[in-house]
Amino acid sequence: MKCFWRTCFGLLLGTLAMSTALAGNHGAENQIGKSKTAKLKKKILFFSKSSGFEHSAIKRTKGEPAFAENVLRQLAATNDFEFEFAYAKDGTIFTEEKIKQFDGFFFYTTGDLTESGTDGNPPMTPEGKKAFLSAITKGKGFIGVHSSSDTFHSPGGKDHGPKRYQLDGDNADPYVKMLGTEFIRHGSQQAGHLVCVDKKFPGCQNFPEDFAPTEEWYSLKDFPADSHVILLQDTSKMHDSIYKRPNFPETWARREGKGRVFYSSMGHREDIWTNPVFQSVLVGGINWAVRNVDADVTPNITKIAPEANVMPPM
Ligand SMILES: [Zn+2]
Repeated sequence: MKCFWRTCFGLLLGTLAMSTALAGNHGAENQIGKSKTAKLKKKILFFSKSSGFEHSAIKRTKGEPAFAENVLRQLAATNDFEFEFAYAKDGTIFTEEKIKQFDGFFFYTTGDLTESGTDGNPPMTPEGKKAFLSAITKGKGFIGVHSSSDTFHSPGGKDHGPKRYQLDGDNADPYVKMLGTEFIRHGSQQAGHLVCVDKKFPGCQNFPEDFAPTEEWYSLKDFPADSHVILLQDTSKMHDSIYKRPNFPETWARREGKGRVFYSSMGHREDIWTNPVFQSVLVGGINWAVRNVDADVTPNITKIAPEANVMPPM
């Protein structure tokens, strides 16, 4: 009996969460209806489950869309109808069958998503995680911002112990390998200068030389040799020991099998989400990841950031 009720309750929660996800999508579908002549939009699942720390930008209060969700709605509506989002925090959406409907996945997540964790939303199953990673390899797009790199840590890296300061290499979690990085930790919020090393990448044509917004900057590790760096974190003027390291990639693109992966470590602060420079780079990255546009993403990390994997002092 107990199991029966747990199952029913689980189904109810799942249904509610799906309705929320679909409700978020419904508006976009109406927009499609209004503009049948517009290009076919790519459908992207914005997934913001927090199994670890829950960021304010993705927190929904009283059922209202989160700050970042509203920004994405606006961006999707104002960018020539090239993409639309569904919004979910329920990890059970990751089944082989359900993920077929999406062209790409956009993560603003934390922690081990196969655990219900901080926000209590239903977790992904281990099979769901495999199906999702396999879908990327087979050609779907992935977009990650900020704490999507503080998600699925490699063995030993779940806590903030010394393992966080070691490279995992081949032992890294498959998700980390797909993303092309793993979060070490961050220092205090501060201005961080970013250098655009590929102004040909979509959305980067007018990237300013002096872009240095205040943000909670991530110190990252385990960069693979096949990354195409777009924005470089200039660490020369940063304070806090975690940034005492050579310049390292902040935004990049890489291919995972037939799939396209785009990541930016920005996105903690709400004023980053409304920053036009961030929005331009993000929209470019989204359009590239879901194949609305092409770009030359020949690996350049060994030239641009040869010391990217030099660890900061612990
Ligand atoms: Zn953060």
